Amino acid sequence: MSDRKVRVRFAPSPTGPLHMGGVRTALYNYLLAKKLGGDFILRIEDTDQERLVPGSEQYIIDALKWCGIEPNEGIGFGDGPCAPYRQSDRKAAGVYTQYAQQLIDAGHAYYAFDSKEELDEQRKRFEGMGKAFAYNAVTRQNLKNSLTLSEDEVKKRIESGEHYVVRIKIPRNEEIRLQDIIRGWVVVHTSQLDDKVLYKSDGMPTYHLANVVDDYTMNISHVIRGEEWLPSAPLHVLLYRYLGWENVMPQFAHLPLILRPDGNGKLSKRDGDRLGFPVFPLSGELTDTKTGKPETFTGYREKGYLPDGFINMLAFLGWNPGTTQEIFSLNELVQAFSLERVSKSGAKFDPEKTKWFNQQHLRMRTDAQLAEALIPLLKAIGIETTPAFAQEVCRLMKEKVQFTHELRDQGMFFFNDPEMYDADVIKKRWNEQSAGFIAKVKDALAAATVWKAADLEATFKATAEANSINPGSVMQLFRVCVSGAGGGPVLFEMVELLGKETIARRLEKALNTIGK
Ligand code: GLU
Repeated sequence: MSDRKVRVRFAPSPTGPLHMGGVRTALYNYLLAKKLGGDFILRIEDTDQERLVPGSEQYIIDALKWCGIEPNEGIGFGDGPCAPYRQSDRKAAGVYTQYAQQLIDAGHAYYAFDSKEELDEQRKRFEGMGKAFAYNAVTRQNLKNSLTLSEDEVKKRIESGEHYVVRIKIPRNEEIRLQDIIRGWVVVHTSQLDDKVLYKSDGMPTYHLANVVDDYTMNISHVIRGEEWLPSAPLHVLLYRYLGWENVMPQFAHLPLILRPDGNGKLSKRDGDRLGFPVFPLSGELTDTKTGKPETFTGYREKGYLPDGFINMLAFLGWNPGTTQEIFSLNELVQAFSLERVSKSGAKFDPEKTKWFNQQHLRMRTDAQLAEALIPLLKAIGIETTPAFAQEVCRLMKEKVQFTHELRDQGMFFFNDPEMYDADVIKKRWNEQSAGFIAKVKDALAAATVWKAADLEATFKATAEANSINPGSVMQLFRVCVSGAGGGPVLFEMVELLGKETIARRLEKALNTIGK
């Protein structure tokens, strides 16, 4: 264990909306940083300018804000000591060129002048032999690069402004070993690697060079990222070595995939569309520059999920605390989190469990907090109410719902007199005695002097018994007369909240409607 300050980064490429897998990567970075008193950085990796999707950088920022996992340095969150935090800006500031040069000077990288057409031809030739072409230790000897061309020729080409790329010179016969916190030792033979492009003559680094240079210059202690980057890690190790930075190389942790609910393959937007759940934190629309087609997508926020429920669910996709506790606030996650408890194997996404997490977090909200969320939802459909009334509605409804909007939708009868009455209950329970009984209840309640649930219940029961009716047999009918619905919150608490006037009006309406 070194006493190095923990500095982690989330380094998305702005190529579309941030998938929930990306949010999970950001979350684990955030949790580790907070747990160990470190820094959490947002770096935008936009070296591949062709794949940029306008608006996605802002989407990433908005998503992290909504989730409550805010970086303390980086794009959208204030500059820190390592600004700028966007790779295109770092390129403009000349951050990368010197390192490409350093690699060339030390013989670990070389210039290559092969045109796209020439490389395509090679590819075809290899295909014809049933093989895949790779620019590597074998093929580079027959290609157009500074290893095969004379020094003069190379100089001439560069000076004449010919387009070139800089490629890493992968050693021929070596084993690269790296220790991943989640996966243990990973060993790759260099024959598996190709001479990746690091830098282009327009001064733009590729992902690999920019990523390593930035992690070094930003003093990153841990690289926590998705499993899809594991194959690139040996190349990154070589770059650290060749640039003389091996002693400060970050520790790696490659996170497991998030799998479809049936466990078959990686979770994608298409699965969400097909099975009816979001795979993005926020709804939105972004237009792919390449296709020019706007793509709309649905988010957890708009589906009514609470950010802490969403985060709790995400935390468990690949990690567990080693206890039976499942419900965690963000702060509790910070306390409990460790990379050592992240699993190697893919994590199956479970949409039903996701709803359950939301429900648990909704129940942990105070009635006042829920009311605050409910009031605008009511306002949106033209219903005005007081905070005190909304708070009581939340108190009575909160055990019954999974989402805030269900407080409104399933509690509509608190705000509107019923237009319809549960047909099944009416069919089963309404008989020739019913109208007379409801009328008596109406009078008894109108005469009530104390408007409290227990007293109202007692009045109701007494009225039933005085008419030789078993109160239990008419309770649901009374509920339907008052609310229209066969089920709902504790009956007489609901009656108390609705108030004397409303109850009198509704019973009158029921008598004039049902059975007529
Ligand atoms: N820019 C890469 C991505 O979009 C980041 C990989 C890394 O974290 O090293 O996922």
